[in-house]
This record gives sequence, structure tokens and C-alpha cells, in this order.
Amino acid sequence: MLTDYHLHLRPDEPDTTAESYFTAANVERYLAAARDAGIEELGVSEHVYRFTQALDLWRHPFWEEQARDDLDAYCEFVRGTPLRLGVECDFVPGAEDRTASLLEARDFDYVVGSVHFIGEQAVDHDGWDIWERSGDPDEVWRRYFEALAECARTGLFDILAHPDLVKVWGGARPLPERDPRFYYEPAVEAIAASGIAVELSTAGLRKPVGELYPASAFAEMCVEAGARFALSSDAHLPEQVGFGYPQAVEFLGDLGVGEICVFEGRERRLEPLGVAVRED
Ligand SMILES: [Zn+2]
Ligand SMILES: [Zn+2]
Repeated sequence: MLTDYHLHLRPDEPDTTAESYFTAANVERYLAAARDAGIEELGVSEHVYRFTQALDLWRHPFWEEQARDDLDAYCEFVRGTPLRLGVECDFVPGAEDRTASLLEARDFDYVVGSVHFIGEQAVDHDGWDIWERSGDPDEVWRRYFEALAECARTGLFDILAHPDLVKVWGGARPLPERDPRFYYEPAVEAIAASGIAVELSTAGLRKPVGELYPASAFAEMCVEAGARFALSSDAHLPEQVGFGYPQAVEFLGDLGVGEICVFEGRERRLEPLGVAVRED
């Protein structure tokens, strides 16, 4: 079995309207790409902040600018397709109860929990770049993985997205000198305690860092802690579905991971890891 659960039906630009991307024809392009890549389980997880309901969770200026669509219309649209229904929901500290209400009110198959922001600044967004405010890599990495740990511990999410996103810029931003395992430690503890599935994401291969998320040291610590993995590309275009899967499947195999998580109605089961057929 191969899955691609963390994917978006449109690029992140604000002019990508629901009317032009949440269409049967666009979904068919993703399904065709999944068939070519041998991916049996395909789901969509639009960013929660693109829906007006997300403003109940947070009123960050970026969210206010992005929140245009209706979450229930999205759910209804996806339910009319063969796709699994997910959502990529940011962890917003202090908004746990409101996040739970938003998620429980809809019949998602899974919820991808992510950390993009630390306070008001983001680790991966131009315009809100945390590196402009704090050039101290030790502080940024420490705070990022602490936030990731909190995200896991909320129990609100099924899959922990791109677990070391803080590295996204690679050598274009400062890196801490310390062994990164020092920063990973609290996050891995929280992953083990919560049982959340760790996302192996090929998105990092398309970013300046040019690596899978998470790094192998992080993944090894997760395996030692008994964590389970979910496999995704974080595609924002049909041609990115299953991107880099041969490398991802080999990476999991090298770790001794032979099973991946499959979700339906927020229930999780394990299936044997499949073989990647598409070469990039
Ligand atoms: Zn994300
Ligand atoms: Zn995403």
C-alpha cells in the first residue's frame, strides 16, 4: 500500500479560488497521477487557514488575508469524489478547545497537524519570516520543536506534518551548531506519548533544503520510540502526487519500517508499505 494524504488541490497563492480548483476535472488529474504512481489511498488536506471558519481559531493577519472559502462546502465537495477527506490544521496554542470543536463538527478521515508559525512569525513563509526577527538558530530550533511537541500532545491530530520543517531553507538560513538530536528530543517524547503518526513527507525534496522531512536522525529516534509513519508528498499540483516516493520508500525500508498508517473516519490501521513505481 502507498498513500498520499497530505495534499492540496491548488497552489498556495491567494488567487487560486475554490471555484477553479475544487472541480471534478482537477480531482481527476490528481487521481490519474496517483494511479500512475501506484498510490491506492489518496486524500486531500487543504490548509485550514483558507477557510473563514479558521478565523475562530486565530486572527493572524496572514490568516485574515487567506480565509476566503467555506470549510463545509469543501467537505461536501470532497465527499462527492473518491478522495479521502482531510484537512491540514495548524496547531494554534491556546485555541485547543476551538480547534477540537471545528474538527469534531466535520467527518474527516484524518487531520494533519502542522506547525508553520512560532508566535507571529513563520518558519516557511516569506513576509512573516522568523529569521528576520530572530537570527539565533538555537532559539528558533528549540522553539520550533517545542511547538511541535505541544502540537503532538494536544491529541487533536492524526498525522504530524513535515516534522522538521524548520530546516526548509537549508543553508540559506543559519543552522544551530549543536547536534540536532538535542532539539528533536522533546518532540519525539511527545510523539511517543501521544501515538500520533509521523509524516514522512517528500515535500522537502522540492524545497531549498532538498531532503525528506524528517531527517534520518529524527526518524531513527521515532522508530526507537515505537512511532508509526504516514506517507505523503504535500503536493500542491497533480504532477507532485507521489513525488520522490522511490526515495521515501527506500528511506523507510532502511529504517526497518515495513508498515504505514491508513486512515478512515479518524480510525487508523496499518498496511504493509508498498513499492514505489514512479521514478522522478
Ligand atoms: Zn504545511
Ligand atoms: Zn501542506
